[in-house]
Amino acid sequence: MQLLDGKAISAQIKSEIKLEVENWVSTGGKKPHLAAILVGQDGASETYVASKIRSCEEIGFTSTLLRFGAETTEAELLAAVDSLNKNPDVDGFIVQLPLPKHISENTVMEAVDPSKDVDGFHPINVGRMCKGLPAYISATPFGILEMLIRAGIETAGKNCVVIGRSQIVGLPMSILMQRNEYPGNCTVTITHSKTKNLKEICQTADILIVALGRPEFVTADYIKEGAVVIDVGITRVEDATKKSGFAIKGDVNFADVAPKSSFITPVPGGVGLMTICGLLTNTLKAARKEIYK
Ligand code: NAD
Repeated sequence: MQLLDGKAISAQIKSEIKLEVENWVSTGGKKPHLAAILVGQDGASETYVASKIRSCEEIGFTSTLLRFGAETTEAELLAAVDSLNKNPDVDGFIVQLPLPKHISENTVMEAVDPSKDVDGFHPINVGRMCKGLPAYISATPFGILEMLIRAGIETAGKNCVVIGRSQIVGLPMSILMQRNEYPGNCTVTITHSKTKNLKEICQTADILIVALGRPEFVTADYIKEGAVVIDVGITRVEDATKKSGFAIKGDVNFADVAPKSSFITPVPGGVGLMTICGLLTNTLKAARKEIYK
């Protein structure tokens, strides 16, 4: 078994981006500028946004955090999105999800200018990705592809099973893994909460991508000997032994599954760290106008 070490790979990618930013700025380019909108006081969202901002500082980006209270209206949020769309100094921005229930995430996502949509959630970016056109690929799928590339994992002709069909992970992942390029060319099965015989389907997977949000759901009996196992899950579970009062758990029972797998991502220290790299890469592309000229 080999560990797909998100900490090491993401540190490598960040140092590469930092160098690219230095080169870009030294030849007259403007520092890439990422803005983030955070609505309400969700603990996990606070942590994610703080780490995105910290990463921007590490690699030489400019960052801006716009905070809104949980009672903010959809109209107020759309006005903030509009102002970031029009701000020529901001190259890309994200609206941290989830949003409070009274705000439509789809309406807000669709209001973001696709050329600044570095999360890759706008239907135009999703559609372009499906057609194989240049697009911002959403950050978590991007991070997973990058892990496969850097570990030199062969994908052509393999059976890839994805658990979960979310807009931000499962669905784009399934599309990317069947593309006629590397990483891709897999025979993909996408599964979800209504799937029958999930375990038997997973047993056919050479590459298993797990994103359902149920801690330690996947056990060794789901795994084909030698499979590549990518665990996207991040769930906080109460743990009195931790200072924070909670532990982070993946969707895969690591201790059980690792001995049967050829490659596996840990949680924490796996896909989560790679996700930020996807966002930073997209922001650099936005600053250089690589996708939208
Ligand atoms: P989601 O919560 O939107 O949806 C879960 C999906 O899992 C649904 O498609 C559902 O049909 C499926 N599902 C639920 N129960 C199932 C079951 N018993 N069998 C098969 N399928 C089932 O999904 P999400 O937003 O992709 O999040 C999934 C997990 O990934 C969560 O733990 C989330 O925190 C984590 N996540 C991590 C990152 C990261 O950066 N590592 C990014 C996004 C999400």
